[in-house]
Amino acid sequence: MRDRGRDGDPEGRTHREVRRMNGAETSESPLRPGDLEEAADRLSEQADRLRSQLARNEETASALRADCDLDAADTGAKAVTLRELHSRAETDAALLERTLAALDRLRGGSFGICTRCGRPQGRERALALPHAELCVGCAGARGAGPGG
Ligand SMILES: [Zn+2]
Repeated sequence: MRDRGRDGDPEGRTHREVRRMNGAETSESPLRPGDLEEAADRLSEQADRLRSQLARNEETASALRADCDLDAADTGAKAVTLRELHSRAETDAALLERTLAALDRLRGGSFGICTRCGRPQGRERALALPHAELCVGCAGARGAGPGG
């Protein structure tokens, strides 16, 4: 007993065009000289942005701390804000550190190489996330959170 579902499929397609297998090409797309410049630009821009964010963050925090004319409710809100500022600053500082380290690797010629397994990260990843130290495989194995 056959159930062919549809009768009217003259082409009888059995297989679709098979998409490129996942990860097949990541190690085969080396960075080009222009890519390094682009990555360097992005990293410097990112570093500048993070530095000014951190500076602004610090200004806000010290303005808050200096502001003593607050009643109890405001003091509570202030503590929450300060904590938020602090955790944002930590995130920014960590990213800034990674960004500067990536710039160092760029100058040292090891940019785009996974710092754990030593294999190329792949061009796409290196350009999309220039501050990433690890290849996709190692980042996944480590259980990386948001931000790679
Ligand atoms: Zn790796």
